Amino acid sequence: MYRIRFHGRGGQGVKTASRILGRAFFKEGYDVQDAPRYGAERRGAPIFAYVRASRTPIHERGIIQRPDCIVVVDDTLMPVPAAAILQGCEQKTLVLIISDLPAEKWTHRLQIQGKVLCLPKSVAGKGSPLLWGMACVGAVTRLLGVLSREALTDALRQELVTLDSAAAEQSSSTALQYFDKMAATQIVIQESSPAAATTYTSPRWLDMPMEIGPQTAPAIYAGATSEKLATGLWRTQRPIIDYTVCNRCWWLCSTFCPEGAIHVDSEGFPQIDYTHCKGCLVCLVQCPTHAIQALPEQEASRLSGEEK
Ligand code: SF4
Ligand code: SF4
Repeated sequence: MYRIRFHGRGGQGVKTASRILGRAFFKEGYDVQDAPRYGAERRGAPIFAYVRASRTPIHERGIIQRPDCIVVVDDTLMPVPAAAILQGCEQKTLVLIISDLPAEKWTHRLQIQGKVLCLPKSVAGKGSPLLWGMACVGAVTRLLGVLSREALTDALRQELVTLDSAAAEQSSSTALQYFDKMAATQIVIQESSPAAATTYTSPRWLDMPMEIGPQTAPAIYAGATSEKLATGLWRTQRPIIDYTVCNRCWWLCSTFCPEGAIHVDSEGFPQIDYTHCKGCLVCLVQCPTHAIQALPEQEASRLSGEEK
């Protein structure tokens, strides 16, 4: 079974891309599920959509937990924990990102387990964010290695029927252009077996330390006592600064930190107060030199010898 998850923002064609891919699979004789997921709908909000396709009936339901391919139409979502882009990413997963950063940078910054392939923003859909979803669906259709150009062309024609002819033509040609472009890459998205009830392994739990009542919910009766709330206990991802790359523009990371958890030392280097850093990764997004990377909290405490 193939499991593909698309992530992007409302308005970037993520839902349409998943529908086109689902229909292309269907035209090749696959059983297909395709569903979008978004909260309060609004342009620009993170959304995702997913496609399952199999030659045999699909019994699996719900959100795809272990994708064979993760498609990221908007790279500003990559470090946002709430977007959960890398959820279930394994070594065999292909992560396809519309991004001007090189693949190695993303692999290093977010400790990505799978293979990463980046399509530059400037060329994907001639630089228009509205066409990035189309570039992605064209690329993914080719990288699957089992879908024909005819199936994609047909799916595009049927799914884009509500657009005016100029927009439909531009969207279709972007998708087909990326289908053709991917002929040069050796990467093939690997199909994985359906989950069997007998071999199913539940998701890995993150063990959280037991918190003492007054620490979790301290009585705050006056101003300037918020430091008593140890927001660091909420963290699932830990930002780590690489001081060999940091250029001491502390007014960026420290100003944007919503917890005021980044202090500046006497030499002008930012220092993260992990008792209050809640792991939102706003600092990682703001850092212009990519000096901040995120590690899963459990991994970070193991590496720093904190884990008991
Ligand atoms: S934004 Fe990045 S480079 Fe600038 S001080 Fe903070 S960690 Fe260093
Ligand atoms: S992740 Fe960065 S921005 Fe968020 S609370 Fe921690 S130090 Fe502040």
